[in-house]
Amino acid sequence: MLPADAPLSHLGPPALLLLQLLLPPTTAFFPNIWSLLAAPGSITHQDLTEEAALNVTLQLFLEQPPPGRPPLRLEDFLGRTLLADDLFAAYFGPGFPSRRFRAALGEVSRANAAQDFLPTSRNDPDLHFDAERLGQGRTRLVGALRETVVAAALDHTLARQRLGAALHALQDFYSHSNWVELGMQQPHPHLLWPRQELRSLAQVDDPTCSDCEELSCPGNLLGVTLLTSGYFGTHPSKPPGKCSHGGHFDQSSSQPPRGGINKDSTSPGFSPHHMLHLQAAKLALLASIQAFSLLRNRLGDRGFSRLLDITPASSLSFVLDTTGSMGEEINAAKIQARHIVEQRRGSPMEPSHYVLVPFHDPGNCVLAGIVQGSPGQG
Ligand SMILES: [Zn+2]
Repeated sequence: MLPADAPLSHLGPPALLLLQLLLPPTTAFFPNIWSLLAAPGSITHQDLTEEAALNVTLQLFLEQPPPGRPPLRLEDFLGRTLLADDLFAAYFGPGFPSRRFRAALGEVSRANAAQDFLPTSRNDPDLHFDAERLGQGRTRLVGALRETVVAAALDHTLARQRLGAALHALQDFYSHSNWVELGMQQPHPHLLWPRQELRSLAQVDDPTCSDCEELSCPGNLLGVTLLTSGYFGTHPSKPPGKCSHGGHFDQSSSQPPRGGINKDSTSPGFSPHHMLHLQAAKLALLASIQAFSLLRNRLGDRGFSRLLDITPASSLSFVLDTTGSMGEEINAAKIQARHIVEQRRGSPMEPSHYVLVPFHDPGNCVLAGIVQGSPGQG
């Protein structure tokens, strides 16, 4: 097993070839578990995306107690690794499958990781907060979140793809910029909310990095208080005095000032600021939780539950005996049915269809109607 701090130069040619196949030619937080061969102990885009989604789903379950079941208690989940199966069992009942939720989350995670592989996205600095394209990066990030909201009403697959792209950029910001090195302990307050201008950005003629000839470059930022990010490769080319992304795949990092500032992994061979990887990952996780919460706010709990396939039931059926002599019981059943509907309205338990099946003596049974969404009050 490769130790976490092993420089890439310690790897033999076969291992290097394998890593080159597994890792994208551009890098960010590593995309998924397979790329952890390069730097065990690193936190991936997939980890960040899944943990953030589970956090916000727990929040949703805490705020919307399950009808007919005891409410969830936060203390039961504190200090434990959040798992979809545990969360769904606590909310919907023991053994309730979380398979559809995990599949939806897998779509988001794969779309996130694909940003580093697809020809249309992998070399675009705006989509990775590279090359000091911070304002442009935020515009694209906010646009992808907006597209997620629009698509959520029409096409969940497309919505999950746009969400994955948005989360990728958001997470990259903490790994590719110097936000962590500036001593910030919280996510950037204006990255998801575009009304405020991004301030204190380094300009093209502000030098930001000194030369670093080692794999680790803990002191190469020039004491700047301005926000900057690393240049990667040759598009665009790195201006004099600017920081590189750094690492094995970055051609720009062999041009002065050499080295780089990325915190994508725990490996010095890929990440000159590897010592700050966990801090960058922590802020990327908090920011991803903010993004999921923002989405929940914009879509409502019902829309959010549909997007992530949290909602278990696709339809809820009421079967009523409408025989004339059953008048009183019918009225009681109507009140009960209304209560059941109200309990579920706007929550993860709300079905997409309601089915009413009346029957009466001498035993015929007619499907009276299917209503999409919540039935009216009448
Ligand atoms: Zn990236």
